[in-house]
Amino acid sequence: MDEPQLELADDAGPVDVRMSLSPSRAGDFQNCPLLFRFRVIDRLPQPADPVMVRGTLVHAVLEDLFAEAADGRTLDRAVELLPTEWEQLREAEPRLAELFTAEQAADETAWLASCVELLGTYFGMEDPRYLEPASREERVSYEVASGLTLAGIVDRIDIAPDGRIRVVDYKTGRSPDPRYEDKALFQMKFYALVIWRTRGVIPTLLQLMYLADGSFLTYEPQEQDLLATERKLIALWDAIAQAIEQRDFPARKSGLCRWCAHQDICPEWGGTPPEMPLLQIVPVEAVA
Ligand code: SF4
Repeated sequence: MDEPQLELADDAGPVDVRMSLSPSRAGDFQNCPLLFRFRVIDRLPQPADPVMVRGTLVHAVLEDLFAEAADGRTLDRAVELLPTEWEQLREAEPRLAELFTAEQAADETAWLASCVELLGTYFGMEDPRYLEPASREERVSYEVASGLTLAGIVDRIDIAPDGRIRVVDYKTGRSPDPRYEDKALFQMKFYALVIWRTRGVIPTLLQLMYLADGSFLTYEPQEQDLLATERKLIALWDAIAQAIEQRDFPARKSGLCRWCAHQDICPEWGGTPPEMPLLQIVPVEAVA
């Protein structure tokens, strides 16, 4: 799920960059520092993308499904929630109107049908009538000793009667090739680290659910894993701080470029980035 971003002040003068990392922004910098800059520093708008919006919509349905009484959490109910959630999303984000024009009603119908398919796969993976999540879409955050805040939004946290914690994240794509599982688990270890540091309990299980192919990716984190994740995030922030100080966010061309909305202003694709504003790093609490 989407997470809080490094946020910038709107005032003229140097742009304040909050000393904060979410899993997605950490991933952006690791994949391509220039993409990180476009998203976090320049805050360039992202065109509405049907695949990403489908993920947001399915997440919203699954979140609200758990607000129903247990025996009402059925696939039929989830499908019923879909149009309402879609309407609410469009009201909250007017740019989503550009996704399907009146002439593209058939595309929208097919797109909604693909959401139903994902929900159907979800119900084949677990039965929500027998689950009582401790929280859904929970914001978690923790400040490490250096002043860096780690923050994110966890899709679901389940807590067993004996106190064991399971962290669940829904993915509307397919499960990764085993070579990329570590990358997929990075986000989950990030959440596990924050939960451990704020609650004093290491989650027993991290569970990614891939609704496009009905696969689970699970991991039982150990203290050493989480300490290593913390060190990695601190080192990553140091690299970001250095990039800010040197005003240097190099482009890193890769297969991910085909999903990037900024090829036209990327030097790797013959474009020119906008001029970078002056930047200053500030602790999270320093920005209202
Ligand atoms: S097109 Fe590729 S190299 Fe350029 S900013 Fe996007 S991800 Fe980075």
